[in-house]
Amino acid sequence: MRNLSTDAFVLRVTLRGTSDKLLTLISPKEGRFYAILKGGHSMKNREVAATEPYTWSSFEFYEKNGFKWVKSATALQAFPGVRYDSEKLFLAAYFSDVVFELSDENAPAGDILPLCLNAMHMLSVTKDDDARIKAAFEMRAAVIGGFAPALEACGRCGCAVGEDMYLDVMNGALICAPCLSRETALLPAPEVDETGVRHILLPLCASAVAALHFVATAPPKRVFSFRLTSARAEDLFGRAAEGYLLHHLERGFPTLENYKRLLAIRRQMIKS
Ligand SMILES: [Zn+2]
Repeated sequence: MRNLSTDAFVLRVTLRGTSDKLLTLISPKEGRFYAILKGGHSMKNREVAATEPYTWSSFEFYEKNGFKWVKSATALQAFPGVRYDSEKLFLAAYFSDVVFELSDENAPAGDILPLCLNAMHMLSVTKDDDARIKAAFEMRAAVIGGFAPALEACGRCGCAVGEDMYLDVMNGALICAPCLSRETALLPAPEVDETGVRHILLPLCASAVAALHFVATAPPKRVFSFRLTSARAEDLFGRAAEGYLLHHLERGFPTLENYKRLLAIRRQMIKS
């Protein structure tokens, strides 16, 4: 029987049988892995808290029959600001799914784990900043996933970033409005080129481009340290970051849909 101790973030929790929990965890060295927490009377309150989803905890395991079993667990950071706010909790579920997607089983977690912990910290300590945190997380996750875009200038003519730019998602580049109108005049069907590749173009302004560029290139601890100049810039930044990540991962996330549905319900409630 081998013992192992590590700090890990709880990505998912599913019930196994009547009282055991199957934990999906991610740690710096081990990457993504599974562990079982035995339920029933042996479970202490401390372990219940430490094995809640989206908690950063210190674990001790023993290995038996090819499985890791939780011997002890202590929460190191529970991100309390996230726990009692359903919008933040839904976002944490989406962040965890993205981290799951961008991590490998039993291979070091790399930069995605610090990004996840920073994003959780920001969600926990801020108010009314969820959309900006979500977008910064998405853009940086895309970069960590190997999809860093070139955001210094128009990728076609090299002109400086202006107020009327587009993110050419599949080419990971910017395109200015004059270049775009020249190209759309040449292409009979702008949505699909002759190779069948879809062109996905997301509109941006100068402030939104600056924010995307900052998030893509900032030192890990500074990823969330930026401001946008207007509500419109924030909106364009948010749409571009989400579109960029989802198109490159070639998938959507039910947890993201749940978050959006919750926001829509909230907005409806405010209106009525
Ligand atoms: Zn151009």
